[in-house]
Amino acid sequence: VGILMGFTNWCYSLEDCFKSLHEIALYVEEDRKFRGKLEREKEEEKEALVLEKGHIPEIVFRDVTFRYEGAKEPVIKHLSLTMKPGENLALVGLNGAGKTTFIKLLCGFYDPTEGEILVDGVNRSRYTKESWIRCFSGVFQETGLFPLTLRENLMPEGKEDSRRVKECLELADLKEKLEKLPEGLDTLFGAGVLEGAADFSGGEVQKLMLARALYKQAPFLVLDEPTAALDPLAESELYEKYYRLSKEKTTVFISHRLASTRFCDRILLLENGKVTESGTHRELMEKQGSYAAMYRLQSKYYQQAEAGLEGDMEL
Ligand code: ADP
Repeated sequence: VGILMGFTNWCYSLEDCFKSLHEIALYVEEDRKFRGKLEREKEEEKEALVLEKGHIPEIVFRDVTFRYEGAKEPVIKHLSLTMKPGENLALVGLNGAGKTTFIKLLCGFYDPTEGEILVDGVNRSRYTKESWIRCFSGVFQETGLFPLTLRENLMPEGKEDSRRVKECLELADLKEKLEKLPEGLDTLFGAGVLEGAADFSGGEVQKLMLARALYKQAPFLVLDEPTAALDPLAESELYEKYYRLSKEKTTVFISHRLASTRFCDRILLLENGKVTESGTHRELMEKQGSYAAMYRLQSKYYQQAEAGLEGDMEL
């Protein structure tokens, strides 16, 4: 019986290995396709988008529908939306509503199946993807840091501005941590992968990513639930920090914890690929619709789960 059980477990672990190999192969395929697209653009001789320093373009989604290749149903359905320069937007909704897909469309990783995305009134497809993606700094669900030095992680393009990087680390609350590291910015990141690499807690990694996003002076900042590992209070604090530090950018915040995004200028509730409610937190609460119901439900859950949070989650 022991041998049989051992063999069965071994078979299960083999199955897991194949599953993760398959998953990795899908990622590689996606990456290859995307790189292929960038290469083709070079041949199509598209224009590179050049923005004047400090200029934030207005983005308009005009009746945008998006369907993944091979899928029957579109994920985004006839979405129309204007993002004013400097606006702080929050995108909320249940899992599978299409929030991440919206971000991928916004950042230019995908193009609309129908409809158009306008940048200062010009169809985005006129510009190269590479120049468009450069307009974004983002922290995504799967974002991480590389097993390189902090310097290389924070300034991946190599154009070093030590004064500014220190400023960004200070803003991200990492000054003290950095002072304790004997090698400073040359400290290796990637404990467990690189010998001699420093240890960083989950919260510190989040702060490093904040510093990196701040260092890149892009007109758009996107946060797509990078804080799943943090508790609700820490997430709420981190989101507010991003908000305070990115006043001169257009920002899009995504979180399934509604309390984290309630300070945004406009909150969009996405349901089944459509914006069903839009307004400030107060307006949506007064409306007594789906947002208000979800917010109340979550507040109740967190109050029960974490006794100390009660005050923070209240309206
Ligand atoms: P959310 O971020 O709101 O949880 P997503 O945008 O990740 O939602 O997903 C919306 C829908 O699109 C889901 O049904 C998901 O299964 C599907 N989807 C996401 N990524 C892909 C993909 N690469 N190919 C096909 N379908 C996808």
